[in-house]
Amino acid sequence: MRLVLATRNAHKVREFTRLLPGHEIEPLPDAVELPPETADTFAGNALPKARAAARATGRPAIADDSGIESEALGGAPGVRSARFAGEGATDAENLAKLRAQAPPGSRLAYVCALAYVDAERESVFEGRCTGTMSADARGSGGFGYDPVFLPDDGDGDRTMAELDDAEKDAISHRGRAARALLSWLDPD
Ligand code: IMP
Repeated sequence: MRLVLATRNAHKVREFTRLLPGHEIEPLPDAVELPPETADTFAGNALPKARAAARATGRPAIADDSGIESEALGGAPGVRSARFAGEGATDAENLAKLRAQAPPGSRLAYVCALAYVDAERESVFEGRCTGTMSADARGSGGFGYDPVFLPDDGDGDRTMAELDDAEKDAISHRGRAARALLSWLDPD
Protein backbone atom coordinates (compact mmCIF):
# COMPACT_ATOMS: atom_id res chain seq x y z
CA MET A 1 0.00 0.00 0.00
CA ARG A 2 1.18 3.57 -0.65
CA LEU A 3 1.21 5.51 2.60
CA VAL A 4 1.74 9.24 2.91
CA LEU A 5 3.93 9.91 5.93
CA ALA A 6 2.88 13.14 7.64
CA THR A 7 6.24 14.46 8.77
CA ARG A 8 8.91 16.95 7.69
CA ASN A 9 11.57 14.88 9.46
CA ALA A 10 13.85 13.08 6.95
CA HIS A 11 15.06 10.78 9.74
CA LYS A 12 11.51 9.50 10.29
CA VAL A 13 10.98 8.93 6.55
CA ARG A 14 14.09 6.72 6.53
CA GLU A 15 13.07 4.84 9.68
CA PHE A 16 9.49 4.16 8.57
CA THR A 17 10.64 3.10 5.09
CA ARG A 18 12.76 0.46 6.87
CA LEU A 19 10.04 -0.44 9.38
CA LEU A 20 7.15 -0.93 6.93
CA PRO A 21 8.49 -3.38 4.32
CA GLY A 22 6.00 -4.14 1.56
CA HIS A 23 4.54 -0.63 1.75
CA GLU A 24 5.62 2.44 -0.16
CA ILE A 25 6.27 5.47 2.03
CA GLU A 26 5.55 8.76 0.30
CA PRO A 27 6.84 12.04 1.65
CA LEU A 28 4.29 14.68 2.53
CA PRO A 29 3.74 17.16 -0.35
CA ASP A 30 5.23 20.57 0.51
CA ALA A 31 1.86 22.29 0.16
CA VAL A 32 0.21 20.28 2.94
CA GLU A 33 0.13 22.09 6.28
CA LEU A 34 0.40 20.03 9.45
CA PRO A 35 -1.48 21.01 12.61
CA PRO A 36 0.67 22.11 15.58
CA GLU A 37 1.44 19.52 18.28
CA THR A 38 -0.61 20.99 21.13
CA ALA A 39 -2.14 17.86 22.74
CA ASP A 40 -0.88 16.40 25.99
CA THR A 41 -0.85 12.81 24.70
CA PHE A 42 1.20 11.22 21.91
CA ALA A 43 -1.94 9.84 20.23
CA GLY A 44 -3.61 13.26 20.48
CA ASN A 45 -0.75 14.76 18.47
CA ALA A 46 -0.33 11.93 15.93
CA LEU A 47 -3.96 11.57 14.87
CA PRO A 48 -4.61 15.17 13.69
CA LYS A 49 -1.42 15.04 11.57
CA ALA A 50 -2.50 11.80 9.85
CA ARG A 51 -6.02 13.20 9.35
CA ALA A 52 -4.65 16.40 7.79
CA ALA A 53 -2.39 14.45 5.41
CA ALA A 54 -5.16 11.99 4.41
CA ARG A 55 -7.65 14.80 3.83
CA ALA A 56 -5.24 16.92 1.78
CA THR A 57 -3.92 14.08 -0.41
CA GLY A 58 -7.00 11.82 -0.61
CA ARG A 59 -4.72 8.90 0.22
CA PRO A 60 -4.05 6.68 3.25
CA ALA A 61 -1.71 8.51 5.62
CA ILE A 62 0.29 7.78 8.74
CA ALA A 63 1.83 10.10 11.32
CA ASP A 64 3.66 9.55 14.56
CA ASP A 65 4.41 11.43 17.72
CA SER A 66 7.09 10.18 20.03
CA GLY A 67 9.20 11.13 23.01
CA ILE A 68 10.90 10.01 26.17
CA GLU A 69 9.45 9.76 29.68
CA SER A 70 11.67 9.97 32.75
CA GLU A 71 10.34 8.42 35.95
CA ALA A 72 12.55 10.76 38.03
CA LEU A 73 10.88 13.72 36.32
CA GLY A 74 7.31 12.47 36.75
CA GLY A 75 7.04 11.45 33.08
CA ALA A 76 8.62 14.61 31.60
CA PRO A 77 9.63 15.58 28.99
CA GLY A 78 7.02 13.29 27.29
CA VAL A 79 5.21 15.06 24.46
CA ARG A 80 7.57 18.02 24.97
CA SER A 81 10.71 15.92 24.24
CA ALA A 82 11.66 17.78 21.07
CA ARG A 83 11.45 21.15 22.87
CA PHE A 84 12.52 20.10 26.40
CA ALA A 85 15.31 22.73 26.55
CA GLY A 86 13.12 25.34 24.87
CA GLU A 87 11.40 26.06 21.57
CA GLY A 88 13.83 25.31 18.72
CA ALA A 89 16.28 23.49 21.05
CA THR A 90 18.81 21.15 19.45
CA ASP A 91 19.07 17.43 20.25
CA ALA A 92 22.31 18.18 22.12
CA GLU A 93 20.64 20.84 24.30
CA ASN A 94 17.71 18.55 25.12
CA LEU A 95 20.09 15.69 25.94
CA ALA A 96 22.18 17.94 28.21
CA LYS A 97 19.05 18.98 30.12
CA LEU A 98 17.97 15.37 30.66
CA ARG A 99 21.49 14.47 31.87
CA ALA A 100 21.39 17.36 34.33
CA GLN A 101 18.04 16.30 35.79
CA ALA A 102 17.67 12.50 35.54
CA PRO A 103 20.19 10.54 37.66
CA PRO A 104 22.16 7.60 36.22
CA GLY A 105 20.24 4.35 36.70
CA SER A 106 16.82 6.09 36.78
CA ARG A 107 14.02 4.63 34.68
CA LEU A 108 13.20 5.87 31.17
CA ALA A 109 10.69 4.91 28.50
CA TYR A 110 10.50 5.86 24.84
CA VAL A 111 6.92 6.05 23.57
CA CYS A 112 5.61 6.23 20.00
CA ALA A 113 2.00 6.69 18.89
CA LEU A 114 1.54 5.86 15.20
CA ALA A 115 -1.75 6.97 13.64
CA TYR A 116 -3.27 5.56 10.44
CA VAL A 117 -6.10 7.34 8.59
CA ASP A 118 -7.84 6.54 5.31
CA ALA A 119 -11.27 7.39 3.88
CA GLU A 120 -13.05 4.83 6.07
CA ARG A 121 -10.86 3.99 9.03
CA GLU A 122 -8.59 5.49 11.61
CA SER A 123 -6.55 3.82 14.31
CA VAL A 124 -3.60 4.55 16.61
CA PHE A 125 -0.90 2.04 17.57
CA GLU A 126 1.41 2.59 20.53
CA GLY A 127 4.89 1.18 21.04
CA ARG A 128 7.05 1.47 24.17
CA CYS A 129 10.70 0.77 24.83
CA THR A 130 11.85 0.87 28.45
CA GLY A 131 15.34 1.43 29.75
CA THR A 132 17.57 3.26 32.22
CA MET A 133 19.67 6.39 32.19
CA SER A 134 23.34 5.64 31.57
CA ALA A 135 26.09 7.37 33.56
CA ASP A 136 27.82 8.65 30.43
CA ALA A 137 26.70 9.53 26.89
CA ARG A 138 27.95 7.01 24.32
CA GLY A 139 27.54 6.21 20.63
CA SER A 140 26.99 8.07 17.40
CA GLY A 141 24.02 6.18 15.92
CA GLY A 142 20.37 7.12 16.24
CA PHE A 143 19.47 10.64 17.37
CA GLY A 144 18.00 12.62 20.26
CA TYR A 145 18.34 10.95 23.64
CA ASP A 146 19.83 7.69 22.30
CA PRO A 147 23.38 8.23 23.74
CA VAL A 148 22.09 7.97 27.35
CA PHE A 149 19.34 5.37 26.85
CA LEU A 150 20.29 1.86 28.02
CA PRO A 151 17.47 -0.34 26.69
CA ASP A 152 16.13 -3.14 28.91
CA ASP A 153 16.01 -5.40 25.85
CA GLY A 154 19.61 -4.65 24.88
CA ASP A 155 22.79 -6.32 26.13
CA GLY A 156 22.88 -4.20 29.30
CA ASP A 157 26.02 -2.48 28.11
CA ARG A 158 25.43 -0.56 24.88
CA THR A 159 23.27 2.55 24.65
CA MET A 160 20.65 2.93 21.93
CA ALA A 161 23.18 5.08 20.00
CA GLU A 162 25.61 2.14 19.94
CA LEU A 163 23.13 -0.27 18.30
CA ASP A 164 22.93 -0.72 14.54
CA ASP A 165 19.68 0.06 12.69
CA ALA A 166 18.38 -3.53 12.76
CA GLU A 167 19.10 -3.90 16.47
CA LYS A 168 17.34 -0.62 17.27
CA ASP A 169 14.34 -1.44 15.03
CA ALA A 170 13.84 -4.80 16.79
CA ILE A 171 13.31 -3.19 20.21
CA SER A 172 12.43 0.46 19.60
CA HIS A 173 9.13 2.15 20.36
CA ARG A 174 8.77 3.06 16.67
CA GLY A 175 9.58 -0.50 15.60
CA ARG A 176 6.94 -1.89 17.95
CA ALA A 177 4.28 0.60 16.85
CA ALA A 178 5.10 -0.06 13.17
CA ARG A 179 4.78 -3.85 13.63
CA ALA A 180 1.39 -3.36 15.31
CA LEU A 181 0.27 -1.31 12.29
CA LEU A 182 1.64 -3.94 9.88
CA SER A 183 -0.31 -6.77 11.49
CA TRP A 184 -3.48 -4.66 11.54
CA LEU A 185 -3.09 -3.79 7.82
CA ASP A 186 -2.21 -7.39 6.87
CA PRO A 187 -3.85 -9.71 9.41
CA ASP A 188 -2.74 -13.40 9.15
P1 IMP B 1 8.42 14.33 17.50
O1 IMP B 1 9.00 14.71 16.19
O2 IMP B 1 7.45 15.30 18.07
O3 IMP B 1 7.89 12.91 17.50
O4 IMP B 1 9.65 14.43 18.50
C1 IMP B 1 10.18 13.36 19.11
C2 IMP B 1 11.32 13.78 20.02
O5 IMP B 1 11.46 12.75 21.00
C3 IMP B 1 12.66 13.85 19.28
O6 IMP B 1 13.02 15.16 18.99
C4 IMP B 1 13.63 13.26 20.29
O7 IMP B 1 14.03 14.27 21.15
C5 IMP B 1 12.76 12.28 21.07
N1 IMP B 1 12.80 10.93 20.45
C6 IMP B 1 11.77 10.26 19.88
N2 IMP B 1 12.17 9.06 19.41
C7 IMP B 1 13.48 8.98 19.69
C8 IMP B 1 14.46 7.97 19.44
O8 IMP B 1 14.21 6.91 18.84
N3 IMP B 1 15.69 8.25 19.87
C9 IMP B 1 16.01 9.40 20.51
N4 IMP B 1 15.16 10.38 20.75
C10 IMP B 1 13.88 10.17 20.36
